[in-house]
Amino acid sequence: MVKEWGTGTTVLLDMGSGSFSNYQRFFNLDELDAVILSHSHPDHWADIDSLAVAMRYTIGRTRPLRIIAPEGVMRLTQHVHGPLFEWGEVASGSSITIQNMHLSFYATDHVLTTLAIRIDAHDVSGDVVTLGYTADTGTGWQPKELGDGLDMLISEATFTSAYEGKSQHLSGRQAGQFAREAGAQALMVTHHWSNIDKVAILNEATDAFGDEVIQAHVGLGVLVRS
Ligand SMILES: [Zn+2]
Ligand SMILES: [Zn+2]
Repeated sequence: MVKEWGTGTTVLLDMGSGSFSNYQRFFNLDELDAVILSHSHPDHWADIDSLAVAMRYTIGRTRPLRIIAPEGVMRLTQHVHGPLFEWGEVASGSSITIQNMHLSFYATDHVLTTLAIRIDAHDVSGDVVTLGYTADTGTGWQPKELGDGLDMLISEATFTSAYEGKSQHLSGRQAGQFAREAGAQALMVTHHWSNIDKVAILNEATDAFGDEVIQAHVGLGVLVRS
């Protein structure tokens, strides 16, 4: 979840299985302005049907929720339809604005259409703060394509370097190297496969990035400033 502190604008980046349960532990469904889905692999959208049911029947929300996704995701869902949901289709090169938050989308190197995201928002002082999110990608795309000024990059780091080239994902080493080449001020890694030692991934990423790297986990909050 990404919240812009100046305006309170709140968006979710992807909604894989388990994310909705965890979201409810910490935040209120009423405050959510938009859900951004990077691609149609279920580990990135599977919980949005549960969110839709809860919005409609549990909390009785009446304010429409924006759902932003590339072509093909909407038809996979069962309950995310009707006037409560405003779907917006994006493609590589698209840009949208959610209140005061500006989002740009970039196609990555993945099995099917997948969009990395650059978010330009504002910190508590009103200064522009920039967040990048790789979504899923192989090495045919790199986060430097998100442009300059990344205050934080959230990068997938699926496995260790022993698995490089075996799947369209990044190792910890590649995530760290690409984040450094992109000039990111900070790096958070996520999306590790559960059978792979995430400490080994983090260590690789840290070595390659040349600075401390954050491993995403449930309940972690990070304040990003420019
Ligand atoms: Zn994927
Ligand atoms: Zn994935």
